[in-house]
Amino acid sequence: MTAADKPVVIAIDGPAGAGKSTVGRALADRLDVGYLDTGAMYRAMTFAALRRGVVEGDLDEVAAMAPQVELSIEDGTVTVDGVDATAAIRGREVTEAVSQISANPVVRQVLVDRQRAWVDERGGGVVEGRDIGTVVFPDADLKLYITASPRVRAERRVRELGGDVAEVEASIITRDRIDSSRAHSPLAEAADAVIVDTTGMSIDEVVARIMELLT
Ligand code: C5P
Repeated sequence: MTAADKPVVIAIDGPAGAGKSTVGRALADRLDVGYLDTGAMYRAMTFAALRRGVVEGDLDEVAAMAPQVELSIEDGTVTVDGVDATAAIRGREVTEAVSQISANPVVRQVLVDRQRAWVDERGGGVVEGRDIGTVVFPDADLKLYITASPRVRAERRVRELGGDVAEVEASIITRDRIDSSRAHSPLAEAADAVIVDTTGMSIDEVVARIMELLT
């Protein structure tokens, strides 16, 4: 594939722990384009709220905070209000609060604007999240919805980050439920998304399958 016929935006959506990040990074590497993990942006906002003592359920307080938060994601390092939050955004405290912060419409607007600006600056890339193909880039060149059973997703997370499979599975199911049922930009398959169920597949198999879609 040459640079001229490279797709401009590849949107990857799907529930927690389905392998979106691993697949997204591998695809971006293969295509030699940038990769944006929008979940890290929502996690960064959540980190900011916890650090500022903002009550996650207080709609107005969260909305007032969102435009003020300074966040950057550079080469895998996440900086929030000048503090390195790379490890903390993957921790339990942030993971448990993130779906509530992400349901706030002002948080979403602030981050969606930044996501579009990121793509504009680079002329495209692989963008991963929950609402990328449905809301952020409805005209994406390729939309993928990557999923797997909750048990398999929990087992993968535990292999990566440790923990108890049953507990992680319960937390994933709760997050999926909040993400899919919220009023603003819920997790959903775009009508024109290619659905990839990775339950019985290795990452290499998933990437190979997606590369076939691009040729
Ligand atoms: O992808 P990850 O599991 O790190 O995302 C963390 C949370 O961020 C999700 O559970 C969801 O609440 C939120 N999110 C979102 N929209 C996105 C990406 C993530 O609401 N585009």
